[in-house]
Amino acid sequence: MPYTLEQLNSAPLQQAAQMLDGLYEHSPWIAEQALAQRPFASLAALKLAMVRVLEAAGREAQLKLIRAHPELAGKAMVAKTLTAESTHEQNTAGLTQCTPAEFAKIQQLNADYNAKFGWPFILAVRGPRGTGLSKGQIIAAFERRLHAHPDVELAECVRNIHRIVEIRLNDKFGAEPTLGNLVWDWQEQLAQHSEPGYAERGELTVTYLTEAHRACAASIAQTMREVGCDEVHIDAVGNVVGRYHAATPGARYLLTGSHYDTVRNGGKYDGRLGIYVPLACVRELHQAGQRLPFGIEIVAFAEEEGQRYRATFLASGALVGDFHPEWLDQTDADGVTMRQAMQAAGLPGTLEAIAALKRDPARYLGFVEVHIEQGPVLNELNLPLGVVTSINGSVRLVGEAVGTASHAGTTPMDRRADAACAVAELMLFVEQRARRDGDSVGTVGQLSVPNGSVNVVPGRCAFTLDLRAPSNAQRDALLADVRTEIDAIATRRGVRFTLEETMRASAAPSDPAWQARWERAVQALGLPIFRLPSGAGHDAMKLHDLMPQAMLFVRGENGGISHNPLESTTSDDMELAVRAFQHLLQQVAAEA
Ligand SMILES: [Zn+2]
Repeated sequence: MPYTLEQLNSAPLQQAAQMLDGLYEHSPWIAEQALAQRPFASLAALKLAMVRVLEAAGREAQLKLIRAHPELAGKAMVAKTLTAESTHEQNTAGLTQCTPAEFAKIQQLNADYNAKFGWPFILAVRGPRGTGLSKGQIIAAFERRLHAHPDVELAECVRNIHRIVEIRLNDKFGAEPTLGNLVWDWQEQLAQHSEPGYAERGELTVTYLTEAHRACAASIAQTMREVGCDEVHIDAVGNVVGRYHAATPGARYLLTGSHYDTVRNGGKYDGRLGIYVPLACVRELHQAGQRLPFGIEIVAFAEEEGQRYRATFLASGALVGDFHPEWLDQTDADGVTMRQAMQAAGLPGTLEAIAALKRDPARYLGFVEVHIEQGPVLNELNLPLGVVTSINGSVRLVGEAVGTASHAGTTPMDRRADAACAVAELMLFVEQRARRDGDSVGTVGQLSVPNGSVNVVPGRCAFTLDLRAPSNAQRDALLADVRTEIDAIATRRGVRFTLEETMRASAAPSDPAWQARWERAVQALGLPIFRLPSGAGHDAMKLHDLMPQAMLFVRGENGGISHNPLESTTSDDMELAVRAFQHLLQQVAAEA
């Protein structure tokens, strides 16, 4: 019989400690110290209490705990001297059935790792879904982490231990994150659709209105119908819209959602998590035959990343009446206009149809969005959820430096108008100028010498510029300085620059009332409230123009990396996001 939290909270200390036996490898003191903080409001609260105990114990205690762990597929496994918990975990990952070559590879990695760090490699082999990483994934993680800085790697080992404990604790308490697993599996299913050229390599790329993109829309629409949405349709820009009706007709809607397009070779959770978390909530409501005093409108936004066309946020922009007519005539890399792409996808491709998507704010309560953090903050703090205070303002530009293409052998260094060198200088300026602000960021993400040759001084150099800051004023000051520097470089080097602004988004502070609802939801899960700004732009910043909005962030694994296939969260964290969303819905229902 699995234990219950009530049993743990009410048992005498010795007995409670016995219930938590085996969580931390040969280190019962962690659970014992945490028990001093009983009663726990939730298992999440207990997990966090144990995290804080180990944190407070310091580096030596952490190292000792790490060293108490067996090597992966190591001597202890072969000699069958592992603890029951470790045996089960290494079995699940298939480590007990390694081929001789795999076994030799892992032994070599163990030796290299130990020589570099002086402790055994720790990996939660049951993985973010709890069902086990493949041997390939384990070896890849091993190879990648071998290159980490020792301090970073120590912290990563500790986090993996906490993840191992989380799964062991779930087992003890029969606490399967069923809704988190559901959300996880939906995202896995959606990630089956990827564009040619990437799909073959197992990479995820879904850009606006490609075949893979349309397959995603169809899949999301299908899921929306399955969970019990009353109305599902794909709108004139390719958004998939699902509505779950209120108890009474004519009631207002809570708008929510996020995007389903991806960057090239991106992660599976960016955007998509914010579609499926509310869908899990609708599923639960529908299964319980429950209606709220307000409706829920979930929008899976078709475009947020600005990959195929220079029209970032066009999908959420359409909902607030911010769709630029000239976008329809923009062409992609293959010369296909957006209008053509829309019509090929069966969309009208007319401005009238797009203009009709604008929402009437009087019909909505507000907009909320769940999103993976896409940064390292929550991961470093061992917090599963964070409440967003504001979305940073940003501006994007595309530019080109035009100099003179000339012979690389015969043009003396002091007589060149090298366009690429001019942009290189600009890049370094952007780096140091943004750094000076402390919380501004500036990036040249694309850089190319069109038709360049090994023996030709670059005559042209194309580049992009992405600048972000917590307030509009700070962002604008950054851009003004960059423009001034561009003029100075142009004069000094005898080149000229073109610069075209492609996107500008205002900083979007969260609505206090909606932010407070997220905070209460997080608190209700037994977790501390942690507030942070969003460095990334999100659909919520477009909806901000029309209605109050607030976002919830979910911790990312692997240092919080995003726009990268290593992007990940656990199904346990996804479960907490669903629970938080359900709590938010209950709050709004109670207020009505
Ligand atoms: Zn996103």
